Amino acid sequence: MKLPRNWNRLVRKVMRRCERRCEWRRAEFNMRCGRAATMVVHAGKKDDHAVGNLLGLCTWHAAQKAQLDWEASRFVAIRVRPAREDGGKKG
Ligand SMILES: [Zn+2]
Repeated sequence: MKLPRNWNRLVRKVMRRCERRCEWRRAEFNMRCGRAATMVVHAGKKDDHAVGNLLGLCTWHAAQKAQLDWEASRFVAIRVRPAREDGGKKG
């Protein structure tokens, strides 16, 4: 599976949409998993990189997804910085 060049940007968009919470089955249930999302995976076609086809998942559900008959996808671990730190320069 090839990731698009703007994958990082897509990941950020998904993270913003899901507020960094796992989106497991969000379409089918009202309840969300609610754990911190650490991965972004394709919900459907692997070559469809539309944000609507991407899901932010927690580590657990990303593993669950791989075990289902969805094609095992290569997960992209993302490191989301909580806040931008300014160098650690001391005045
Ligand atoms: Zn989850």
